Amino acid sequence: MEQKEKMDFMRLYDDCRLCPRQCGVNRRARDGKRGLCGEDDRVRVAFIGAHFGEEPPITGVNGSGTIFFSGCSLRCTFCQNRQISHESFGDLIDPSSLKSQVKEMIRSEGVHNINFVTPDHFFPHVFDLVSSLREARYDLPMVFNVSGYQSRTSLKMAEPYADIYLPDFKYADRTLAGSLSRARDYPEVALEALFEMVRQKGFLDSGNSDTLIATRGVLVRHLILPGHPENSINVLTTLFVEFGPDIPLSLMSQYYPVGASLPDPLNRPLKKEEFNFVYAHARDLGFRNLFVQFPGSRSECRFSSPSPFLPDFRKAQPFEKPTLRNMQSPVDRRKRVC
Ligand code: SF4
Repeated sequence: MEQKEKMDFMRLYDDCRLCPRQCGVNRRARDGKRGLCGEDDRVRVAFIGAHFGEEPPITGVNGSGTIFFSGCSLRCTFCQNRQISHESFGDLIDPSSLKSQVKEMIRSEGVHNINFVTPDHFFPHVFDLVSSLREARYDLPMVFNVSGYQSRTSLKMAEPYADIYLPDFKYADRTLAGSLSRARDYPEVALEALFEMVRQKGFLDSGNSDTLIATRGVLVRHLILPGHPENSINVLTTLFVEFGPDIPLSLMSQYYPVGASLPDPLNRPLKKEEFNFVYAHARDLGFRNLFVQFPGSRSECRFSSPSPFLPDFRKAQPFEKPTLRNMQSPVDRRKRVC
């Protein structure tokens, strides 16, 4: 039964409609045709390892066990992981080698969960990996770290394999979604996807404790874009109206311009006034389960890269690991504020 399930999932690559792009290409054909995600049916990965940049209930003390997949179906103009989403960075990896490396990460780093970053275009392999880990009695929570632009059909398939969803909610503005991600339907697709995720898993179960590691539920993320605070205001209002004040929400200020030809105003970092405007709206609405990444000045930042949050996947360790020194920086952690 299990083997039959796995084989059936691999057939999803034959006429790929894993995401709302609905390309309908045969990713197993090796005929050079690719969908918008840019990937065929062979898994490519840019990084496997412990990551300390997630929210406290996901990162914990030992880190979240991330797997960064190459390619992306959304490919936002401003993507902070541009090397893997736009520049095709990453290596092909045999599924058995992927399983071995993940097991080794669990053994050597003691990560609190397995965190699949932008996994939707490789869902069949992700389902297969989760099945294998569970068969081998690994009971860590499985985190699906997604763009928010997911189809309900794919999410229903993911239901038995996911424990935690970390979806973005990037846009409430169709025009902005069209110009930055070529997805004018993002607001309604993301809302439908979020309803499905919450139906499956409920809200993140860490409650109001900073010490509890999450095991199940949904935590929504929103990255504030420079020059577009009104989009953020409408995102927060939509989340509040549709889900109420208890929906776990992570407000992020880490935007940094990546890529040479970004249009104004995306060619600059977020201003503190823009952040404060959006943050004040979140507090006014009264979200009761709010994580906030407060902006910091470069002088406050003790990291060596232009932004402490920008990974460089050419390095063996793409993310700056927290040390006692940089953990004291006001810019490095996402904090729970209520
Ligand atoms: S996963 Fe890739 S090929 Fe499949 S529908 Fe989405 S963008 Fe197209």
